[in-house]
Order: sequence, then structure tokens, then C-alpha cells
Amino acid sequence: MNYIPVSTPSLGPSDEEAVASAVRSGWISSEGPQVREFEARFAQLVGKKHGIAVSNGTAALDISLEALEIGPGDEVILPSFTIISCLNHILRSGATPVFVDSRKDSWNIDSESVRNAISTRTKAIIVVHIYGLPADIDEVCLIAAEHGVPVIEDSAEAHGQHLQGKPLGSWGEISTFSFYSNKLITTGEGGMVLTDNDELAARLRELRNLSFNPEQRFVHHTIGWNYRLTAIQAALGLSQLSRISELLEHKREIGRHYQELLGDCETISLPLSQYRGSENVYWVFGVVISAGSQRSAPELMTALHKKGIGTRPFFYPLHKQPVLAQFGFDSQSSLPVAEHLGDRGFYIPNGADSSPETREYIATTLREELQQ
Ligand SMILES: *Cc1c(COP(=O)(O)O)cnc(C)c1O
Repeated sequence: MNYIPVSTPSLGPSDEEAVASAVRSGWISSEGPQVREFEARFAQLVGKKHGIAVSNGTAALDISLEALEIGPGDEVILPSFTIISCLNHILRSGATPVFVDSRKDSWNIDSESVRNAISTRTKAIIVVHIYGLPADIDEVCLIAAEHGVPVIEDSAEAHGQHLQGKPLGSWGEISTFSFYSNKLITTGEGGMVLTDNDELAARLRELRNLSFNPEQRFVHHTIGWNYRLTAIQAALGLSQLSRISELLEHKREIGRHYQELLGDCETISLPLSQYRGSENVYWVFGVVISAGSQRSAPELMTALHKKGIGTRPFFYPLHKQPVLAQFGFDSQSSLPVAEHLGDRGFYIPNGADSSPETREYIATTLREELQQ
């Protein structure tokens, strides 16, 4: 069997045609009409007023934090169990990150810990929907509203997912998405910020585009970034968007099959198949090696690699990141769930090319290795 990569994008003839047609039209920069159409269609899917397309999901978080005017003396609450993208601009802006642990069951931010972490200096709360399961975004939004604090809802791993029938990405004051090649829909590299707030939307558009001034283009009152998405990428985004149900269904089919194949395995725990009525969309399919297991996660990943199976470790907890020291923050605190997941979790292949036969091979190989 050929090497099985952990992730492969789903790119079909309609995607190819969309990109070719953008090239043929001559609209290839961010000025192309495809960008505005992609913004409008994506915002509509999630049920938000404004869509601001950007070059990637990290850029989406950067400008969201900047638009909320995060700076020295402010605190931003965020989960420890997430990607570094959530932390970057908090550190660069001189604000203080306040890390919160995850729930044991859904691996998502624990809302009671968010409540306990709020102070008079809290300027924003970042919630991340991890690996395709909804976080308790409703509860966090209620807590945040009691304190008048905005929520940034990072939905980069949960396009098309819902909680209580309401789309993820529609709950926060601002929400962010990534369209990196391993995400549920992709533009290769790409991202989006959504908001209902007109003033924030204007600021976000400015920050994305070098803070050009609508009245006097080259006169700047603030500095931004060039975080623009191209029309070629937006064209791909539009064609992916029209296939989103099919793409999500395939992820769910893969996830259900792995649950069947590995559900009775005592030395690993699997993601929840559903949480509060939402079926997991399995952006990735993670496994967590039980504390009692003979073999460590890195050992198993190496063994699987030797048998032609790609894996990827879970996020390394942010509160332990060595880079914190550079900014004068302590990395000695302890958040047990994030640490447990970071030490013992990895994900197994669930890309577009995943077939029932490869999944059976992967499950059998993983079981054998767990018994060594
Ligand atoms: C992928 C991801 C990002 C970053 O997106 P990029 O497009 O790779 O910059 C941010 N947040 C989460 C939760 C992600 O999974």
C-alpha cells in the first residue's frame, strides 16, 4: 500500500474549472469580483452580515485582535489547547494571555474556567471549536455578555458545524476561519473574518489592506497589513463552498467508520461522536493513548510511519510554550487536560482519498502496535 498521508484536499473538476476561469478572466488579484462574492456567500452560509476575506486564518485572528484594540495592560482569555495563531498577536501587542483548560470529554474550552479567569482587565475571550466539535460557545457568550467582553470565535476547524441549530461562527462578536489546504473547505491558503458590527467590519477591511485611507489613499492614520486574499483563491473558495455538504458528509462517514473500527479499543480514547446534539464533523480524527498504555504517543506515531501511515501530534499546550519566556510570562503553570491531550494525542489519516480499505488497514495496524 502507498504511504497514507494524514490529510489530502478534495479537489475536483469544478474546482479546477473555477480556478482556470479566474485566470482566463484576468481577475487574479484581490480586486477580482470573486473575492466579494466569496465574502458574501460565506457570510450568508454562517448567517453574519459582513465577510472580510484574508490571506490565512492567522491573519484573521491578528486583525480581529487589533480591531478590538488589544494592547498592554489588557488580558485575553484563550484555551491552552489550540494553535499558536491564537496567541501570536496577543503577545505582539503587549497584552497578557490568560490560558484556560479544556473539558475532558470534548477537548474544548471549559466555560466555568472562563468565568473564573475573567477580571476587570479582560479585553476579549477567544473560543476555538476544536477538531470539529462545538465548544460551549453559548455559555461563554453569556458569561462574556455579563462582563461586556467581546468573544472571538475561531471556527477554523468547524466550517458548516452547528450548536443547537445555530451555525458556529455566528455566535461571537467576531468569528474567524481558515481555508488552509487541510481545512474542511480550502483555498490553498486563505481565511475569513465575519461580524455583524459595521464599525468593526470597516476597521477589519482597513487593517487587511495596509490601512489605505478611502479619502486620501496614501495618507495613513493607522498601520495595517497586506493580508488580502486573491481572486484565484476566492474562485476556489466559491467552488468548494458549493460542495460543502458533500465534503462534510465524507468527513463524517470516515469518522463513523473509525468509531466502529476502534470503538472497543481499551487503551485509547476517541473523539465524541456527538456533543450536545451536534454530530462531530471530524475535521481530524484524533486518538488519545490512555495513561496505562505501554507505549507513548511518539513511539506509536513512529511505528505507524514505518508501516506507511501518516499521523500528526495534537497541539502542544500554549501555556507551556517556550516562547512565553521571551515575553516575560511564566510557562510553569499546570492545566492538566491540555497537557494530557498534548502528551498523548495524535490524529490518523482522514483526507479526501480515505477509503474503507485504508481505514481498515490503519485500524488493524494501530491495534497491533498498541499490543506491542
Ligand atoms: C488552521 C487554524 C488556524 C490558522 O489558520 P492558517 O490559515 O493556517 O493561518 C487558526 N486557528 C485554528 C483553530 C486552526 O485550526
